[in-house]
Amino acid sequence: MAPTTRFAPSPTGRLHAGHAMSAILAHDLARAAGGRFLLRIEDIDGTRSRPEHVATILDDLRWLGLEWDGPVVFQSQRLPLYEAALDRLRAAGLVYRCWCTRADIAASASAPHGPEGALYPGTCRGRAGDPAQPHAWRIDMAAAVRRTGPLAWHDATAGSIAADPLSLGDVVLARKDAPASYHLAVTVDDAAQRVTDIVRGADLFAATHVHRLLQALLGLPTPRYHHHALLLGADGTRLAKRHGAPALADMRLAGEDGVALATALRSGALPLGFARASA
Ligand code: GLU
Repeated sequence: MAPTTRFAPSPTGRLHAGHAMSAILAHDLARAAGGRFLLRIEDIDGTRSRPEHVATILDDLRWLGLEWDGPVVFQSQRLPLYEAALDRLRAAGLVYRCWCTRADIAASASAPHGPEGALYPGTCRGRAGDPAQPHAWRIDMAAAVRRTGPLAWHDATAGSIAADPLSLGDVVLARKDAPASYHLAVTVDDAAQRVTDIVRGADLFAATHVHRLLQALLGLPTPRYHHHALLLGADGTRLAKRHGAPALADMRLAGEDGVALATALRSGALPLGFARASA
């Protein structure tokens, strides 16, 4: 079967060369095998997503010479799908309401740490709070793992990986201010769009443990994963975290050649001022 890949940016800021790398790799993997390359805008975070970033993303991709197949999909238009998935997990007794604020969680000094930082200490698990008060929904990870048993997924670079969703703890599946979290929406959409190969930065490697678990709980297929090394600024910091990392839009508006940039990234020749993280 010809592969289907996707580029799934969040329109919360401007794209930089690291995003370009993900988009190019996903595009080329599909095109090399006569497959499909999709574009999905991950705009469930209504407070941070901006329409002007969407327009910029489309212009940036065209500037790089990348064309996507079919209409652009917006997660903000697919909320009922995520609600239906959450309903199923709720019916299975695998999620619970959480009223904690960020400050509450930060204040629980005893919280253990996982690959994504402090783990949720489980404060609201089994707690009878007021459902009328704003609350998130968290997965009861220990119960979920008991339900699925051991799981594995395949990464093109790292090989067969034993899923370890417990290392991320009781992650949020629906937020106080958004009906789905990244983990839930991305899992539902990759299955709904029949994505066979997920190409994305190594910063999302650990999240795949959770996505694999959700696939098993929701009866969805498991794609192949291709986590690529992140691009860093010359000072070694991640582009996303770095102030002043050049945005693709800046290069485009300055008259630089996007297709030449894409060719350079494909050949591993990084633009001036970039480095590649060791995988
Ligand atoms: N929307 C995510 C981001 O911009 C990427 C999602 C993914 O590739 O799984 O970081």
